[in-house]
Amino acid sequence: MKSMKVVILGAGESGVGAALLAQKNDYEIFVSDFGQIGKDFKKELNANKIAFEEGKHTEEKIFDADLIIKSPGISDKVPVIQESLKRGINIISEIEFAAKYTKAKIIAITGSNGKTTTTNLTYHLLKAAGIDVGLGGNIGFSFARLLAQRKHHAFYVLELSSFQLDNIQAFRPDIAILLNITPDHMDRYDYKLSNYIQSKFRIMMNQQAGDLFIYNISDVNINQSMSGRRIKMDTVPVRQHAFFETEKIEVEGHTFKMSKSSLKGPHNYFNATCAITAALKVGVAPKLIQKALATFQNDPHRLEVVANINGIEFINDSKATNVDAVYYALLAMVKPIVWIVGGIDKGNDYSLIQPLVKEKVKAIVCLGADNTKLFAAFQETINKIMETQNVLEAVKMSIEFAEKGDVVLLSPACSSFDLFKNYKERGDQFRETVQLLIN
Ligand code: ADP
Repeated sequence: MKSMKVVILGAGESGVGAALLAQKNDYEIFVSDFGQIGKDFKKELNANKIAFEEGKHTEEKIFDADLIIKSPGISDKVPVIQESLKRGINIISEIEFAAKYTKAKIIAITGSNGKTTTTNLTYHLLKAAGIDVGLGGNIGFSFARLLAQRKHHAFYVLELSSFQLDNIQAFRPDIAILLNITPDHMDRYDYKLSNYIQSKFRIMMNQQAGDLFIYNISDVNINQSMSGRRIKMDTVPVRQHAFFETEKIEVEGHTFKMSKSSLKGPHNYFNATCAITAALKVGVAPKLIQKALATFQNDPHRLEVVANINGIEFINDSKATNVDAVYYALLAMVKPIVWIVGGIDKGNDYSLIQPLVKEKVKAIVCLGADNTKLFAAFQETINKIMETQNVLEAVKMSIEFAEKGDVVLLSPACSSFDLFKNYKERGDQFRETVQLLIN
């Protein structure tokens, strides 16, 4: 039988994962990347004898495909996609492709903020209970790569971005979690929030009776979009509280103590509620969940406590690249804050956090190439405000402003590309600089 021709556009983690899985399933494969392919990915393609090109898209080869798998970084608007659509070639995402090759149960998690935290926690709760579970998607390894491995897990917990959901067709998670929707990536959605909302809701569009959809009922965008939908699956609406009087959360009649957990703040209690709801549905015993909550370690750069020097706490929240994440970071703090903020502003509306800043922030250090907008927004509210383009200087300025009992919080509200390679480099430099001061 003639094998199907698949073209994979983009050769990052998701494209290469798709290529490996396609190879295992006897497709004729061609990988095409308009940019340069990373050294390790190229090595992997060569080692597996997978044909590829870089720096161009050869149209004859692409339009000859029976199926195109598009990497999430590629917009629908690029000419090669537009032309493929015109020619009626089926275009799917790597997630859609991968899901065809497993019978495992899938827990899929999306949202504008909190995806990684909730995905990691859900995975941890299942793993600690002895369940055979894999972790991937927008975090760690691509789903396709995981499935290209010989042995499959019984469960997969997947973090999914809106771009990964855009080209799904039949993908149907057993449990879907939609955390929140705040405007993001508007350039990919014609600057229409409604398009972005639709994209996020794709996570539940194929769910059937017996599946579970866990969603944030306190989120206006989600709540509005729920009404009028035909709901076949079971649903669990979860409320996101603005504060908690005690360090406890209630889920389905069970009480979980959070005092021993490293997860702090109402947003993380909300994330935990969603993860626990999923774990309970899978059948994990509440006692095991309680135990696992105490041993959970999130990835760095998310309200990560990096040091305590002379009674001043230093927290790295470099992953907070939008105003909503900063809102919850400020809300989570119980001490006066010296706030390090700045970078590339993605159209931020700082009025959303003005009252919190007024209440909790005592000084601001702007760390960005251009801090004009931050000064304009906050110099009336906070009189101690300085700027720098250097992490060491930012830390020194913060120490000048801070006293024993305060917290220095790096929570930038902006992306990092003006001064750093990415949010990780920004957070790593902050952590290393602070830790050098201890020695
Ligand atoms: P994502 O993977 O969606 O970017 P992360 O878990 O990496 O989410 O967290 C990104 C940032 O958002 C961090 O600064 C974190 O403190 C903040 N955050 C985490 N959960 C939430 C939430 N439920 N609502 C708002 N902000 C959140």
